[in-house]
Amino acid sequence: MTLALGCIADDYTGASDLANTLTRAGLRTLQTIGIPADDLALPEVDAVVVSLKSRSIEAGLAVSRSRAAETWLRGRGASHVLFKICSTFDSTDAGNIGPVMDALRDDCGEGIVLVTPAFPETGRTVYQGNLFVGAVPLNESPLKDHPLNPMHDSSLVRVLARQSRTQIGLVDLAAVTRGADAVRARLAELAGKGIGAAIIDAVFDRDLETIGLVAAEHRLSVGASGIGLGLARALVSTGKVKSNAAGGESGAAVGGPAACLAGSCSQATLKQIASAEQVMPVFHLDPDRILTGADEAQRALDWARPRLAEGPVLIASSSTPDQVAALQARHGRDAAGHAIEQAMADIAENLVKSGVRRLVVAGGETSGAVVDRLRIPGFLVGVEIAAGVPVLRAVGAGGGMLLALKSGNFGGPEFFSDALRLMR
Ligand code: ADP
Repeated sequence: MTLALGCIADDYTGASDLANTLTRAGLRTLQTIGIPADDLALPEVDAVVVSLKSRSIEAGLAVSRSRAAETWLRGRGASHVLFKICSTFDSTDAGNIGPVMDALRDDCGEGIVLVTPAFPETGRTVYQGNLFVGAVPLNESPLKDHPLNPMHDSSLVRVLARQSRTQIGLVDLAAVTRGADAVRARLAELAGKGIGAAIIDAVFDRDLETIGLVAAEHRLSVGASGIGLGLARALVSTGKVKSNAAGGESGAAVGGPAACLAGSCSQATLKQIASAEQVMPVFHLDPDRILTGADEAQRALDWARPRLAEGPVLIASSSTPDQVAALQARHGRDAAGHAIEQAMADIAENLVKSGVRRLVVAGGETSGAVVDRLRIPGFLVGVEIAAGVPVLRAVGAGGGMLLALKSGNFGGPEFFSDALRLMR
């Protein structure tokens, strides 16, 4: 297998967002959880997104993990690697964007790296090197108060210069608007001055397409899902990748019992559970019993197992905001969240042992706990069930397995049935 595109994402949800964007743009995409073992059998794909958790860890560790991911990707033929960061450039003066970029640049011998977190469809645009979040500059957006990475400067040229060993230049919108040749010329000029990386402006998707064309001629780029979109479109338009226009693999049916788990307490999820009650049996966990050490997971499994042969079931811990607040007041917010996530992971693990091969999970943290417990090394990204929520086919799982992982407010009222209809 020769990858057309390798990606290293600095967190899991960012990785999923990128993998979904690449898939919609026509690339067969695999998202891995961490750096895969060398013996992982890979299906035929155009792009791999390695998900790390390196956004807010110590810079040296972020560098070594990213380098290992790069080695793995290059070893599978990736001539271009995208280091995927947050579209709000979450970082501090200590890193980790600059140090990781510098190390990857050294490793691949790149002269000048294009950098942009622009993703216009989510309101992230870059003009004169300044990042806007919706209508306001980054330093006036809610990111100024971020608990881990408060962003007080909208000039990404300055922000990245404080983190990187190289000088940072700017390719402005005027050059991008003139087209790929103008961008190439500007980059050559900057590289000639010894500048090793450049923030590049982008306000519309067509800007990302120009950027993608030029970036694909280099070994390394840094940015969010927007530059991923540009790279994917460039790979398709230049014929390097044959578009999988259906937007996601369909693959062989997996069959077998299906189950849904809901740990999200969002308004959307509460409505989705109410709709599911009309079409499938639903078991409501008692969160207090989980917190007081009763084997609530076992009670749910005893309820579910005899029903699995009849059709899908749903097990939910979700409650209304006042019930959630009351439980948190009794047990503490973190203890409550953690205990319920682990109970959900126990239930998922045992459902899979009982033969479940199609699993829908509602809740971002809940999904993370379930995927960790099931030790799934990666997913092939399939068709979208709802905006931003694709069907995922686990790789490396004996017998095949389909998952849908939905965070918070995603999906329409019939989300659980919609998902199961596409998970055959
Ligand atoms: P979302 O994507 O909606 O934010 P998450 O799974 O990320 O959902 O977060 C929901 C959190 O709430 C998890 O930590 C989960 O364990 C916890 N939780 C689930 N049910 C309850 C409940 N009934 N009371 C309190 N916390 C709950």
